[in-house]
Amino acid sequence: MPEQILLEQVVDKVRPLIGSGKVANYIPALGNVDPNKIAIAVTTADGQTVGAGDYLEPFSIQSISKVFSLTLALSLYSEDGIWCRVGKEPSGQSFNSLVQVELERGIPRNPFINAGALVIADLIQARQSAPKHRMLEEVRKLSGNSHICFDKNVANSEFKFSARNASIAYLMKSFGNFEGNVDTVLKSCFHYCSLKMNCADLSKAMFYLANRGKTLQGHQLITPVQTRQLNALLATSGLYDGAGEFAYRVGMPGKSGVGGGIIAVIPGDMSICVWSPELDQNGNSLAGTHMLEHLSQSLGRSIF
Ligand code: GLN
Repeated sequence: MPEQILLEQVVDKVRPLIGSGKVANYIPALGNVDPNKIAIAVTTADGQTVGAGDYLEPFSIQSISKVFSLTLALSLYSEDGIWCRVGKEPSGQSFNSLVQVELERGIPRNPFINAGALVIADLIQARQSAPKHRMLEEVRKLSGNSHICFDKNVANSEFKFSARNASIAYLMKSFGNFEGNVDTVLKSCFHYCSLKMNCADLSKAMFYLANRGKTLQGHQLITPVQTRQLNALLATSGLYDGAGEFAYRVGMPGKSGVGGGIIAVIPGDMSICVWSPELDQNGNSLAGTHMLEHLSQSLGRSIF
């Protein structure tokens, strides 16, 4: 169990790195975030959560939501139903690249790049009448926080500047790998990304990844095998083009978002969330990665 004091040391050690990255500014709602925020929270196998820094302050979870949407899709479809539409390979291109969608004939390389997340949102939309509402309910349940909500300002601003994601969706449609109405699916996807959660909420919500698919509340959300598979995909593709570097330095399955959050897990042991808004060149939180690296070194833990 990492003591609170250890988490505080991790935050203090990494804080001087603030200023070396860049806050995402492709929409004003994200560009205005205070770059000095820094936080870590850990939920351990006994169900306890500890945190340090701004760990109770909500932020835009962005692509961390792709973990929740894939989990939801796993409960709605058979394995084949999902993996005939999206691949399981690391991408080697930026998270919002169109290149590979074209090269791979409309099948995104994995569910964690934007193209893959759009296909997953399309799958969810085809089976659910109120996907946004269902997603909100699910994350509230998983984290035990009924106050979690969407940031409408972020969701609307994503939609206003959605040309790139829309073009990815239309490109997949041209290959026959996108069923729904593009605008409707984009709106759902942007709402998932706009969820505002804090590090404590996220470390609790992701506990099932560390607990063989069982949530903090004791509900079997996905099977132990599905959990292992999901963690494998997170380890190979969760940090986009920085997945190799992250595996080398941190050694945990993880998922980042351009809001500056990263979730990571040590299966059987703990789920972790870090937050620092400035990003590195791959779109992953710069100080966040350092916090996880320090934590894994201090605890002497990694999946490798
Ligand atoms: N909303 C972001 C986008 O579309 C999601 C990407 C991310 O968090 N990496 O660019």
